Amino acid sequence: MKSLLTTEKPSQHEVDYFLGVEIDLRRRLAEQRRAELEAEEQRAARELHYMHCPKCGMRLEEILLSDVRIDKCFGCHGLWLDDGELERISGKDTGFLPRLLHLFRPAASNPSQ
Ligand SMILES: [Zn+2]
Repeated sequence: MKSLLTTEKPSQHEVDYFLGVEIDLRRRLAEQRRAELEAEEQRAARELHYMHCPKCGMRLEEILLSDVRIDKCFGCHGLWLDDGELERISGKDTGFLPRLLHLFRPAASNPSQ
């Protein structure tokens, strides 16, 4: 039986195989680190921008309007609505606002497109 311990020099095929394994491992580690950095960057950006006006950067204040909490900027006087809040404020009538909402609705939830 041949011993696993040997003083023979590894073949080029063996060297290439282990080099490929190491390169693959380092590539996966780099991809994992990049994903971690992106998640960290996204979390930091969210923490920095959450409840701040996208137009002027001032802190947003919540105001109760028609039983919906909307975000108001007292810096530039803008109003900001979360997803679905405009529909809740406007109700289900057939006026201008529902037609406008229909136009801006994403294609996946708009069966007429
Ligand atoms: Zn503002």
